[in-house]
Amino acid sequence: MKHPHYEIGLHLSPRLGELRARVELTCSLEDLDAEPSSDVFFLHRSLRPETVTGDDVIGFTWGDMSTPHPLGNDMGWAELTVSYGKAAQLGKTRRLVFEYRGCPGIVSQWQVNRLTPEWVELGMYAPWFPFRLDWHFTYRVSVTVDPGYETIGVGMCKSPDGQVTLASTEPTRDIVVVCAPRFLTEQRAVAHDSVRVRFTSENDAGFAKQIAEDGAWVLDFLGSWLGRSMVKPPEIVIAPRTTGGAYVRPGLVVMSRPEGDPASERQRYFRWVAHEFGHLWWFRASFTNWEDWLNESFAEFCSLASLRQKYGEDAYACRLSDMRHRSQDLPPVRGLPRNHEKASDVLYVKGCVILADLEMNIGRELMTRFLQEVYSQEAVTTEAVIQVLNAVAGPTHGQWLDERLRS
Ligand SMILES: [Zn+2]
Repeated sequence: MKHPHYEIGLHLSPRLGELRARVELTCSLEDLDAEPSSDVFFLHRSLRPETVTGDDVIGFTWGDMSTPHPLGNDMGWAELTVSYGKAAQLGKTRRLVFEYRGCPGIVSQWQVNRLTPEWVELGMYAPWFPFRLDWHFTYRVSVTVDPGYETIGVGMCKSPDGQVTLASTEPTRDIVVVCAPRFLTEQRAVAHDSVRVRFTSENDAGFAKQIAEDGAWVLDFLGSWLGRSMVKPPEIVIAPRTTGGAYVRPGLVVMSRPEGDPASERQRYFRWVAHEFGHLWWFRASFTNWEDWLNESFAEFCSLASLRQKYGEDAYACRLSDMRHRSQDLPPVRGLPRNHEKASDVLYVKGCVILADLEMNIGRELMTRFLQEVYSQEAVTTEAVIQVLNAVAGPTHGQWLDERLRS
């Protein structure tokens, strides 16, 4: 087995604010700690484990974290340590079964995760399943929720008897479950796909329409520019909260509702949507090291190019000059640790400026061919991308790019 797998039965009662779960986790020895006698998982403080059983399990302990919080804040995470009677055998899988329940309420300092009658939003910020920060895993969750609630999540299936299943066969890092008494929908069809925005209140209808329209416009433009992406656009959910911002998972975007008038910030939301939709093309490179610039800088360049196409050359020049200003005195892209304090400026802003400069050097026609080739050849390392550039525009430009990434 390549990745850990979660098989979860989740019972949610938003009316009572209660969560009950039975989690069957299958993992191989390589996924677990080098210290073979125990493993540490995170679970939100409000969720009390009742039993932990499984291969070689002799017991578990549960309590507040003894180590500093991995995300740097006290977000109510607790440590669940599972002890084993004997070490796992190499090449064998280990099966663990967790049963727990609790009432999380509104949790995490940004109130991103919660379980309330009006709105349910569960994910890794207040871990509702035995969670490991370093894992990529697959999952299947059978969700049972109070009658009258609708559920949204990645890979959703509904059986004829109404049982909702969420699943990811692609390794991922989070399981997001969203429920509300009702969802409204704004949908826009584009060539082979559609952009769908879900929201819970009529008050968000105008914003949802704006996001759906801009999303469809961007998808249409990027598809005609780069060639069609085979990845389906994510479902976009507008959460009924103004704090906490947005997060993106493969197949799902959850965003907060705007505090002011979204129409007055249309360009900012447009750029954001264009960046996220840019990832339908740019997602294959590693996101745990500096090569993440092949995801983030390229997605941001899609955002910049969409801005130029929709709002014109002046808007493009203005945005680029702002980004150029922000990218002064930043460390080189190449070799930057992903957790460096300037990582987001380097990967989102500086890398994008480099691509804009490259386009200036080789012209728009060759830039388009370069991007199309990088995508279709699935070049996922910087060396491979420089090879593509050498082939499309000549080695002087490949050398130029190599030097820019080092300076
Ligand atoms: Zn991104």
